[in-house]
Amino acid sequence: MKRVLPAMLFVVLLFGIIVVPVLAKSDSLGPPDIAQKIFIHRAKPDNPGKGKPGGEEGFYKLLGAKWKSFPVHMEVNPANPSGLGETFVLTTIGTAAEEWDDGAYSGWGGVPVDLFDNTITITIKGYDDLAWTSDKLDGKNTIVWGNYPTSGVIAVTIVWYNTKTKTILEFDMVLDTDYAWGDSTTMASVMDLQNIVTHELGHGAGLDDLYQDPAYQETMYGYSDLGEIVKRNLYTGDKAGITKLYD
Ligand SMILES: [Zn+2]
Repeated sequence: MKRVLPAMLFVVLLFGIIVVPVLAKSDSLGPPDIAQKIFIHRAKPDNPGKGKPGGEEGFYKLLGAKWKSFPVHMEVNPANPSGLGETFVLTTIGTAAEEWDDGAYSGWGGVPVDLFDNTITITIKGYDDLAWTSDKLDGKNTIVWGNYPTSGVIAVTIVWYNTKTKTILEFDMVLDTDYAWGDSTTMASVMDLQNIVTHELGHGAGLDDLYQDPAYQETMYGYSDLGEIVKRNLYTGDKAGITKLYD
């Protein structure tokens, strides 16, 4: 009996240490675990990577979540203070999306899945309707112009994902009205819409920013500036990253 009692105590102790916390954890699961990541794209006139030779190693960084059902549909509010027409806005955003999907701009071939829906819906939603907080999640991937309250910001993309299933749930995007927007191949001193949206849609697809100087040719490089169009066509790491996610 003297030996059985300590053994029983040991078993009770083990129950307390291992089983009770597990039960408590499963009781507190509650609603699905969702997380938000906000990507803020800033202007950097003295881009440290510009003009630097080579060093390209196919850089990419994954967010840690991706889409599991396709195609991913987007809605756009084409109203903008730069006076860009609705057709230009929708066509340009469509080309940016399809560069990731099937290489519509550069002809690189794309990924096997039909990543982005070729049809884009028009919405009248604005800045405040975006999913800045979880109560604004509506399952729609929305792109609007708006004024993010920090100077030097070009665009912001909000990505929501399930931390357990690693699935992206929604992304919303703001194109900052601090800048004049347009087509840098034909207009002077504008933020190139296709250039920036291609970068931001990389976040929407599950790619993170790159800030190391040698990655300056990548679409996912974290800085841009007026007149830049280098992000329109995917580079080595961008293609490797999106293929890693959707092959
Ligand atoms: Zn970014």
